[in-house]
Amino acid sequence: YPLDMFCIPKHYEQDLQHVLIPSGLIDDRIERLARDIMRDFSHEAIVGLCVLKGGYKFFTDLLDKLKALNRNSEVSVPMAVDFIRLKSYRNDISTGNIEVIGGDNLANLEGKNVLVVEDIIDTGGTMTQLLALLKEVKPKSVRVASLLVKRTSRSVGYRPDYVGFEVPDKFVVGYALDFNEYFRDLSHICVINENGMSKYSVKR
Ligand code: 5GP
Ligand code: MG
Ligand code: MG
Repeated sequence: YPLDMFCIPKHYEQDLQHVLIPSGLIDDRIERLARDIMRDFSHEAIVGLCVLKGGYKFFTDLLDKLKALNRNSEVSVPMAVDFIRLKSYRNDISTGNIEVIGGDNLANLEGKNVLVVEDIIDTGGTMTQLLALLKEVKPKSVRVASLLVKRTSRSVGYRPDYVGFEVPDKFVVGYALDFNEYFRDLSHICVINENGMSKYSVKR
């Protein structure tokens, strides 16, 4: 969608190509995902594992929707939350290896039903490595919800259990997805342009 159809913060007006997914559409899609998740996890407690930082908006909004479902249903399930911080990108170009740089001890997830909540799957390399790490601590089950999945030839073939939207092979920002820490403060998911890339690229 053209930028002038939406409210874009003035400081980013020159830095975006177009709006890919408006916030209202994100909201609606998450409501439906919550329903699907609740159906699959029925009667079992869930530990929501938020992959920081990019996953934080999706995580809180998804939890709100799950909470609303619990409130209006005969069967409701308790939810715990946990956080993990991974680093896999430098200047947003994949380095191929993930590093866990924060969060609780993964060992706490032993025997739990874990719902990993991630912002975007690009090649799938990050998630494949995270799942391998999780497996070592022997959770009861692991499912992955990713708000976005990129259509890319660089994919390792990984597909999450729950997908919000498929997006084209372009760099997307907004709704907590960043480019060098900027654009998290943008409600809609947008495609960044050349101007935005150079303005916010890390100078070394
Ligand atoms: P993967 O290992 O699947 O190639 O990359 C996963 C991570 O790279 C994501 O969790 C995200 O942090 C980052 N990433 C990949 N593509 C994009 C993108 O288009 N926009 C943003 N903001 N981050 C991306
Ligand atoms: Mg991520
Ligand atoms: Mg990032």
